[in-house]
Amino acid sequence: MRSGKIYVVGMGPGNEEHMSIRCRKVLSEVEYIVGYKKYIQLIKHLPNISGECIEGVMKKEVDRCREALDLAEKGHSVALVSSGDSGIYGMAGLVLELIEHEVRSVDCEIIPGITAAHAAASRLGAPIMHDSAYISLSNLLTEWELIEKRIKCASEGDFVITLYNPKSKGRPDLIDKARDIMLKFKSAQTPVGIVKKAMRDGETIVITTLEDMLKESIDMMTVIIVGNSRTKIFGQSMVTPRGYEI
Ligand code: SAH
Repeated sequence: MRSGKIYVVGMGPGNEEHMSIRCRKVLSEVEYIVGYKKYIQLIKHLPNISGECIEGVMKKEVDRCREALDLAEKGHSVALVSSGDSGIYGMAGLVLELIEHEVRSVDCEIIPGITAAHAAASRLGAPIMHDSAYISLSNLLTEWELIEKRIKCASEGDFVITLYNPKSKGRPDLIDKARDIMLKFKSAQTPVGIVKKAMRDGETIVITTLEDMLKESIDMMTVIIVGNSRTKIFGQSMVTPRGYEI
């Protein structure tokens, strides 16, 4: 069997300007581009895309990775796309697990991208700047008790916290529970940045507080950055000072 190559590509938050040159080059060279249909729709109009696009559906990530690996094993070049970074709640880990467990004979290259937290942070100002934790509120693959524990520990440790997957129709109340835990350790006045569709059409940016954050619209296209005890709001910006003497 001739072996091809799989590229696990982080395509950034959405717009072309924030895709890496490596990402653009790979997308323009591969024979197949495999990904969740919303991500394929964001890239298939780009210039120089000649590979065949294969659109997958939500919750079929394992099948999608296997399909991409099967093509690569037949000798094809395949890009498996994730939004943001391919290694942050993306496909990179799953692909490497499948290569190991199914003894797949393929080359694999992981291509990083700008993750939602960093895209949103740049829109808000400089809210991360210091030690931070990324926590997904999705309990599809992680039990809620462990998510709660991580929110508690990160809050107790005064980390800046970025919440991914903050709300879906099936579990609309988890964000309320997450906020209640954070309020035990963080002040109600802690600045919170809420960015929807960062760097995509329809982007919205809101700066509020832990007390008021639930008044804002939050969905699965939203990422939320909760400051630490030093985070401030300066005009239109949310800033976590690193501690420089000025
Ligand atoms: N690999 C992706 C994350 C996938 S998990 C990355 O590195 O960004 C999906 C979650 O990411 C969404 O529920 C949302 O919380 C966040 N997200 C992804 N793209 C986003 C964007 N453009 N704007 C705001 N949040 C985004």
